[in-house]
Amino acid sequence: MTKHVFVTGGVVSSLGKGLTAASIALLLSRRGYRVRLQKMDPYLNVDPGTMSPYQHGEVYVTADGAETDLDLGHYERFTGIPCTRDSNYTAGRIYSRVISREREGGYLGKTVQVIPHVTDEIKDAIRRLASEDVDIVITEIGGTVGDIESLPFLESIRQYRHEVGRSNSVFIHITLVPYIRAAGELKTKPSQQSTAILRSIGIIPDILICRCERPLSAEVKAKLALFCNVDTHKVIEERDVEHTIYEVPLELARQEVDVYVLELLQLHVRPLRMDDWERMVQVLIQPPNGTVEIAVVGKYIRLRDAYKSVYEALTHGGIAHGLRTVVRPIESEDIEQQGPESLLAGVHGILVPGGFGDRGVEGKILTARYARERNIPFLGICLGMQCAVIEFARHVCGWADAHSTEFNPETRYPVIDLMAEQRGITAKGGTMRLGSYPCHIQPGTRAAAAYGHTVIHERHRHRYELNNRFRDDLVRHGMVLSGCSPDGQLVELIELANHPWFVACQFHPEFQSTPLNPHPLFRAFIGAAWENARHAAT
Ligand code: GLN
Repeated sequence: MTKHVFVTGGVVSSLGKGLTAASIALLLSRRGYRVRLQKMDPYLNVDPGTMSPYQHGEVYVTADGAETDLDLGHYERFTGIPCTRDSNYTAGRIYSRVISREREGGYLGKTVQVIPHVTDEIKDAIRRLASEDVDIVITEIGGTVGDIESLPFLESIRQYRHEVGRSNSVFIHITLVPYIRAAGELKTKPSQQSTAILRSIGIIPDILICRCERPLSAEVKAKLALFCNVDTHKVIEERDVEHTIYEVPLELARQEVDVYVLELLQLHVRPLRMDDWERMVQVLIQPPNGTVEIAVVGKYIRLRDAYKSVYEALTHGGIAHGLRTVVRPIESEDIEQQGPESLLAGVHGILVPGGFGDRGVEGKILTARYARERNIPFLGICLGMQCAVIEFARHVCGWADAHSTEFNPETRYPVIDLMAEQRGITAKGGTMRLGSYPCHIQPGTRAAAAYGHTVIHERHRHRYELNNRFRDDLVRHGMVLSGCSPDGQLVELIELANHPWFVACQFHPEFQSTPLNPHPLFRAFIGAAWENARHAAT
């Protein structure tokens, strides 16, 4: 029988619930249990695909093509366990199922209500992950305890525990224990209040994880235990990590959170091995080969979460070479205003990530040009690839008004154009080319060298593509089309032969990179940047 762990958060948002859930999942899976992770988001969008990255950060894409919350990225990076569309439910998705069922007459004349109909739907979503080959499902409830919109989710997990019993479910509450400088004290009151709200809806946490800047004294722990109704040893300190988020699982393992979870679930505590993870963290803390600096030129730069997986994948690429990757985030509009020279001076590699809408596009095109002309290693992703193609068309092929029809429908050289399958689609939610598709790589190319094989599967999220009408001309001018869909119709990878390392892809490699298994393109890109750095130093 599958057992369940429910993770809630109190006091404030952004406590790193997703990282904590991912870390616990990693520890449980390292102890030999088959774990699945799931996130419930209380907002009313059906999925985050239609939201600006400024709202909830990056939209993470699963292999099966769901547009999901970025916490799923942490889940996959930490555990290597694949997520699916069942790994993320929003209130909007739950309600839309209930409402369509009501329209179909599925409730047989009943009054449709939050309890039991919405809560039943939520419990079904949880149950969907429980199966014969899953030992433990970890369900993270997004938002903060006390929000009106998270109430149906909390009521559902309360009922769920009632149904499966205490020995089959654990409640973990993550809270904030702030340090008040003026008083010189850690304050427990916010945690007392958020567990009191939980208690009023029938949930008493088994484990309290306290996010804090300073260590929790025995006295503070005892106080939290007493007032939050938790065993003292199950009050866990989760202090801000010093170097990297990948330290979190090690810190939680030191305090044996995973042991408490297994004991509460009445599961055998098998040995834990984390040597490879520890070695990886050590490389990040003290990189033996120094640092490389990579410029990331995008349009949502002021929010770090907007390019979460890209930044993580750059870190992973560094790990592969014993390097720390330092990111220089640059607004593409600043490139438009100030030119690339001053902003990009001294970087060892340049990455242009994906994006939508024309703001900042010219800055990305200028950036690709700068990388090409100055022989700086370049990785373009999705819109980043499209900008590299536009740049090449304009300045190498000499088609001055070349563009994507996303930005200039009137261009005489629509080198990037809407995919045929996208014509006529007007609905915005979930209608792009999404998820994992195969790609065949041309032997002898940089891409082939990076991957070490020629059939790859990568995740996508786009409506536009390289226009096949211009293929021959682009190739004649020196562009290498190094990867295509199996039917040869869709260009997935381009590169430049007479450049140290200039590769761009229509897909999103960042979604498949993990710290223990850095993505081949990121590994090769950072390798080229390191080469460039050593060159510059001599
Ligand atoms: N806007 C481009 C397209 O739809 C690029 C998308 C992306 O970068 N994810 O094709």
